[in-house]
Amino acid sequence: MKNTSTPQNQGNAIPRRNFIGGLAAAGSAFTLPSTLLGQEASQAAQPAAPLKGHFHPKGKAPSKFTIDILKKAGSTLPFDDTRDFDEQKKGLIAPMKEMKIMAEGGHVAWDMERFQFVHKQEEFDSIHPSLLRQARLNNNYGVYEVIPGIYQVRGFDLSNITFVRGKTGWIAFDPMISAETVRAAWKLFQEHVGEGLPVTAVIYSHTHGDHWGGVRGLVKEEDVRAGKVVVIAPDGFMDHTISENVYAGNAMNRRLFYQYALLLPASPHGFVDMALGKGVSAGTPGLIAPTRLVADAIEEFEVDGLKMIFQNTPNTEAPREMNTYIPSMKALWIAENVCATQHNIYTLRGAPVRDALNWSKYIAQALHRFGMEAEVMFASHHWPRWGNARVQEVLRAQRDLYAHLNNQVLHLANQGVTINQVHNVYEPPTSLKNQWHCRGYHGSVENNSRGVIQRFLGYWDGNPVNLLPPPEAESGAVFVEMMGGAEKIIAKGQELYNQGKYKVAQQIVNKLVQADPKNETAKDLLADIFEQIGYQQENAGLRNSFLAAAYELRTGIPQGAIASSSSPDVVRAMSTELFLNFLGIRMDSKKAEGMRFTINLITPDNGEKFCIEMENATLTNIEGFLAEKPDLTLTINRSDLEMSMMGAKPIEQQIKDGTAKFEGDVSILAKLAATMIEFDPRFEIMPGTKAAASAEEKADAAFEAPVGAAMCE
Ligand SMILES: [Zn+2]
Repeated sequence: MKNTSTPQNQGNAIPRRNFIGGLAAAGSAFTLPSTLLGQEASQAAQPAAPLKGHFHPKGKAPSKFTIDILKKAGSTLPFDDTRDFDEQKKGLIAPMKEMKIMAEGGHVAWDMERFQFVHKQEEFDSIHPSLLRQARLNNNYGVYEVIPGIYQVRGFDLSNITFVRGKTGWIAFDPMISAETVRAAWKLFQEHVGEGLPVTAVIYSHTHGDHWGGVRGLVKEEDVRAGKVVVIAPDGFMDHTISENVYAGNAMNRRLFYQYALLLPASPHGFVDMALGKGVSAGTPGLIAPTRLVADAIEEFEVDGLKMIFQNTPNTEAPREMNTYIPSMKALWIAENVCATQHNIYTLRGAPVRDALNWSKYIAQALHRFGMEAEVMFASHHWPRWGNARVQEVLRAQRDLYAHLNNQVLHLANQGVTINQVHNVYEPPTSLKNQWHCRGYHGSVENNSRGVIQRFLGYWDGNPVNLLPPPEAESGAVFVEMMGGAEKIIAKGQELYNQGKYKVAQQIVNKLVQADPKNETAKDLLADIFEQIGYQQENAGLRNSFLAAAYELRTGIPQGAIASSSSPDVVRAMSTELFLNFLGIRMDSKKAEGMRFTINLITPDNGEKFCIEMENATLTNIEGFLAEKPDLTLTINRSDLEMSMMGAKPIEQQIKDGTAKFEGDVSILAKLAATMIEFDPRFEIMPGTKAAASAEEKADAAFEAPVGAAMCE
């Protein structure tokens, strides 16, 4: 396959975040390059004509097996329970009329139009009926009353923004992802409810980027500094906001292309929903540091004259998170600890596995502390629950969902069920399966059960054959030879495909793709198999991952110049130690073979010092120590160092213009810089999907590894 760039990303040095978001936003205008279409026409191996209505010329319709599975699934679901639809639309004050929200850069930051297709038909044979239901529910778009004094703007981003009336103004919970979508939400809110009163406080419920990224669309930093607006967050917020996403950040970004299907257009055969909401906005992210941290397990204080009780819930949905109870309103803000889905214990984009039992216990605590009297519960995604009975019902079921998962998966593990089989064995009880909000739209029973075992036992299933697996290409070649060659494998794979045995078919055809990544017929067949498995999924991340892999097998990974830029706010939030640790990850140790030097780094404005050592082709640092005889001592204020951390100004330039002072051998810096590589999120996942780099790309030296880009969940 030749250059398979899509028009959206050709040659524009737009920020990487916009690149990723822009791809998703550009989905409805998605076109394939003519070179590929020409090649497609000559592909003799493709038996069927392009499917009408499918965005891809190689796309296939759902098979009768897939249609049967979806029909059967539909017949077992509790469709009689329509309370979610009542709750989702309750309290609508005004819908948002404009379907698009523009970004400062002139591109589309948010586009609701492309998600409307889910309402145009009663059912779709390529979408799981339960996922379709969730996708429809997530299409709320406007300003809603929760109760008098509490309002939400929903559907402007992946997350909701909530406004609570204080004594003198509005207390805002979780300002979404982008300044632009937050600004649009605030405008709509003010037109109908806000009375022109200002924002007096902002509360970040937790560390994920869809709960703080748009704060600059709501308040000015100088007002925060002047104490006019208080910004409240759980203790440890700044450390954990960035640290979760730095070390493996590039790998996580790449995996987002699968979990969130960033390349797929919104379509019955493509992207349908992101489970927590419709998608991630592509505007301008920013971060203002909190000015009031909640450190105790339970803290009670007034915010703009309104008494609030904060409950810290560390290591649940996020490393740092907190619920808030407003006693005078009997209103419980449950953050993202409880929403209208089973959440992720293991998240496909990659993150440390979460603690299901701990999560369950914090929900239990919220139930017993606040849930016994709360009359409404509202959250940062989805819609509120009204009436104490309903609040208790949801809290109790969610408590049990995570406890059951933890306990019963370990119950099975203790009887020998392994990480590679538990998803075929573990099942939640029927009473939980019959509650819509416990179903696996975002987290899935399959991934979460494997995640619990990963947390306690790790990846090994106990079979030594899985301890030291050989390279897949090597074993694949032996399998291909023994199975009688490529043609026989394709024939058998096609036979299994025709019988609807997709999970077995994928394993056989994958052997061939691993052994021979150039075999287009094999890749196309594997894509067809993945596509059917994708259509069958209730879980958005599973559907997206199978369909995204099918897309890349058929089309290749889109190439073209991309650039990334870390938001200055995000870099400021990163500790120097975290940055230095990440340099050790970026360093290619083969390039550092035999190097040996010691650098003392001193940042006088924040009183930090580091001893950085290169030894054994390993770059280490230790805070609070200095070497006695360093090869180089570098003194620079941390506030100036940030320009270099962002990649905006090389250290050499800082020395040249006198911003940084040095003693010793400054040539060490060039040696160190020469060991660094830039991570590229376009690496191959499926074999044979990487298109050859174009000349334009080779010239694209500006590409920068994403350092701690905000992760939304
Ligand atoms: Zn979220």
